[in-house]
Amino acid sequence: PAPTGPATLGSRFADALPELAIAARGRSTPAPTLVALNRSLADDLALDPDELATDAGIRFLTGQDVPPGATPVAQVYAGHQWGAFRPRLGDGRALLLGELAHRDGTVRDLHLKGTGPTEMSRGNDGFAAVGPMLREYVFGEAMHALGVPTTRALAVIGTGATIHRDTPVPDSELPGAVLARVARSHLRVGTFEYVHALGDNALLRRTADHAVATLYPHVAGSADPYRSLLTEIVAAHARLTAAWMSLGFVHGVMSTDNTTISGETIDYGPCAFLDGYDPNVWFSSIDRYGRYAYGEQPPIAAWNLARLGDALAPLLGDDETAGRAVAAEVVAGFEPAYRDERRHAFRAKLGLSRGVPDAVVDDLTERFLALLAGARVDFTGAFRALAAAAEGDESALRGRFTRAQDDDGTSDAFGDGPAGASAAGGTADPEPSATQRALDAWLHEWRANAPDAATIRRTNPVYIPRNHVVESALDQASSGDLTAVTRLVAAVTSPFTERGGLEDLAEPAPAGSPAHRTFC
Ligand code: AMP
Ligand code: MG
Ligand code: MG
Repeated sequence: PAPTGPATLGSRFADALPELAIAARGRSTPAPTLVALNRSLADDLALDPDELATDAGIRFLTGQDVPPGATPVAQVYAGHQWGAFRPRLGDGRALLLGELAHRDGTVRDLHLKGTGPTEMSRGNDGFAAVGPMLREYVFGEAMHALGVPTTRALAVIGTGATIHRDTPVPDSELPGAVLARVARSHLRVGTFEYVHALGDNALLRRTADHAVATLYPHVAGSADPYRSLLTEIVAAHARLTAAWMSLGFVHGVMSTDNTTISGETIDYGPCAFLDGYDPNVWFSSIDRYGRYAYGEQPPIAAWNLARLGDALAPLLGDDETAGRAVAAEVVAGFEPAYRDERRHAFRAKLGLSRGVPDAVVDDLTERFLALLAGARVDFTGAFRALAAAAEGDESALRGRFTRAQDDDGTSDAFGDGPAGASAAGGTADPEPSATQRALDAWLHEWRANAPDAATIRRTNPVYIPRNHVVESALDQASSGDLTAVTRLVAAVTSPFTERGGLEDLAEPAPAGSPAHRTFC
């Protein structure tokens, strides 16, 4: 029979792992409206964007009309949140509608968030608000355009219902929304932790086999496929973490239920990009001690992978103890792999060719970052300004330093000499500050390694979703005006090409802005 509705969907997850799948449907939406539609992604998935925009399309995107072949399910998983094990988390406000063929020949999960309570809601309402769902749209599209593996938003639907939240202020009434997103997989480290905690090794094997078949099919024939699976996942996270770090991305909630088996970024909650560089910074209002701060992300990724290793241990050795030793050995590979990936990323960010020795790249990287940290210079802008500096124009780079020091009133004012020098008289050239001398020395050595401006422009974005811009755009969107969000999406989806009329999006927050805080 001819398929009805916008698509036919596969159900390989629900078929392969029924123990991890609970039938679910989207709740009815009182007055649904299409808030945002990702037309090019729809096209990649062979979905007709015009059809998605119809009433039938919206019922499809909110999980109310289920197309042929689909078995929408809430996925069951566990996870370590803030370091503590939670044996049963799962989709408390989401469902996996089914699987779709991408034009590139691979398969994508079509997953809906904000569709209403499930038996895993644990007392929460099961819904989502327009602001955070658009936030996920903006960040996912930005990350995709930056070349980072990520879930991507297909659409945000306003439900017409009002939901209640206690952030940012108590008793906030917010417009409800459903996010439709796609990913290569929604399997998580927490999926394996859940199965491991059940003690059912046959199910553990079946879950691992599903991960191999859907994500890493090339390891199926290897001598030790489960060890190879873990090795691949460790490598994927070394690449992912290096990408985050090289872009100044702070995920915000790196719990193991938010750590994918595919190595994609998932669950954009209280995430943010760095403004002024500070490795100790975090943004999430719920992260009281900075567990998931920018600089903590590599060790946290390794810790999360160690939890995966524990969960896979029964498959990795003759007994669980032997399996744990194998897992520890594989996970120990994260650190050196991450270091190599990070060096690779920063080599390109600094415009250095492959001929520049690793030790030189590392030294130039650490010293540049120390300079940025000293004055909390805008991370994204300073790296981008290296392109012009490589061509002999240092004004933009020096401008970022001056701006940072003006903003926080540092006494070692860049270009104004040591404290007191500018007060001593306005005629002589001011003596260079310590920061300026260090930057001059750094530029001299960097230039001696023949940095390439084109490489710098290819790897350092002009446009990222800056915190103050995101916040004001989402505020406007929540009151119904999508102009700013649309403009922001247009900027961040082509992040490397500087264009006129978008200058404000490439600037740090105005001086005196409060430290940014994000809410889930
Ligand atoms: P997250 O921080 O979004 O990754 O969510 C962590 C866990 O809390 C997952 O099991 C979610 O399904 C659940 N959760 C988060 N928000 C809600 C909500 N509003 N209603 C029900 N469950 C939720
Ligand atoms: Mg999550
Ligand atoms: Mg979330």
